Amino acid sequence: MPPIDNHVKKSMEKTGKDYKDVHEWIDGDPEKKAERHDITKIYEYGKMIEEKYGKEALQEYIQHIHDDVKTKFEHLQHDMEKKIVDTLAYFGVK
Ligand SMILES: [Zn+2]
Repeated sequence: MPPIDNHVKKSMEKTGKDYKDVHEWIDGDPEKKAERHDITKIYEYGKMIEEKYGKEALQEYIQHIHDDVKTKFEHLQHDMEKKIVDTLAYFGVK
């Protein structure tokens, strides 16, 4: 997943604010990181973030999750493609 700095930079470019508190809340605590990326909790956490930081922050929270899903699956796709190539090469399949 992209590091906090990437999320902060993207928020800054989009909104003019870094929303560092929001991104650090999502990624900062290793023990709570998975829970805070749980898409079934978007309503609950989203409401909390909106109350604390406002509507734009809520959108940045959702964008953070979106960007992490995209990045994670791009890595997965890359790894899988490499594995397929390696496996085919192992059997001499070209
Ligand atoms: Zn994240």
